[in-house]
Amino acid sequence: MTTGGSAIAHGFPHLDTVRAALTALFRRLSHDTVSTFPTSVLPVDVAFDDDEDLHLGAQRVARAMVRQLHLPDARIVITFREMEHAATVELTAGPEYFVELNDRFRRHRKDIGAALAHEVTHVWLHRLDLSFPGTRDNEILTDTAATYLGAGWLLLDAYREHGPFSQKLGYLTPEEFGYVLAKRAAFFGEDPSPWFTSPQAYDAYTAGRARAEQDARRPPLAGAGWAARLRYAKDRRAAGTAHRTAPGTGTPLRVSFPCPVCCQRIRVPVRGRLQARCGLCKTLLDCDT
Ligand SMILES: [Zn+2]
Ligand SMILES: [Zn+2]
Repeated sequence: MTTGGSAIAHGFPHLDTVRAALTALFRRLSHDTVSTFPTSVLPVDVAFDDDEDLHLGAQRVARAMVRQLHLPDARIVITFREMEHAATVELTAGPEYFVELNDRFRRHRKDIGAALAHEVTHVWLHRLDLSFPGTRDNEILTDTAATYLGAGWLLLDAYREHGPFSQKLGYLTPEEFGYVLAKRAAFFGEDPSPWFTSPQAYDAYTAGRARAEQDARRPPLAGAGWAARLRYAKDRRAAGTAHRTAPGTGTPLRVSFPCPVCCQRIRVPVRGRLQARCGLCKTLLDCDT
């Protein structure tokens, strides 16, 4: 895991990969297994004050991550050393996994939970044999999975801007972490707002949530805004005309759009108002086609 210091990227530059990661999670786990992650790691699980022994405390926080990700037989062995990255994990057959944390976490215990959220999610993905080709995409998958399964809000909360002391952990931008967290919040009916200790992280969450809400207001979804709906009606008329002029095609006109929950593409017939159930995440979607 890297740590962003000087120039922290913002916005949504990795959104396509983030969406592909959400779809991959639902495909690999199924709706039923995703549904077994309804509660996030709570702040009390990762609280780490200066009186506690550093190594014992780090082990305790690691066990909280192992529980969160349903890896009961995994044991995380933590060491601290000086290094360029924030943290690394050695992916082996297990059940023991070696995580190295940057020495600076000795003085920033508050962020150990965030670093371990990312590294233990690597273990989880490794055990599941789920990966994306290429380091960049695989790291985005890791942050997305950590966040969707309830551990990654800590990575967003570790983002702070104080001039030269600015810090960000993980590969997603703060807004992208917010986007995934908002998707999780909507799916599980969980509100992470009270957990934030970093005001900048909270702002990034609201920006990401606004972006996530746009996904649910895209035609033909019934919640679409009027401007988008007008555009959609025009496109549909154009498609309908083209369809009719194509000789010998008797198939009904269909429209496809990404599911606002799992981002898989859904196809529905064009026939006014209808409800469609996403085959992957099982969400019932009101459409006006
Ligand atoms: Zn990583
Ligand atoms: Zn879906």
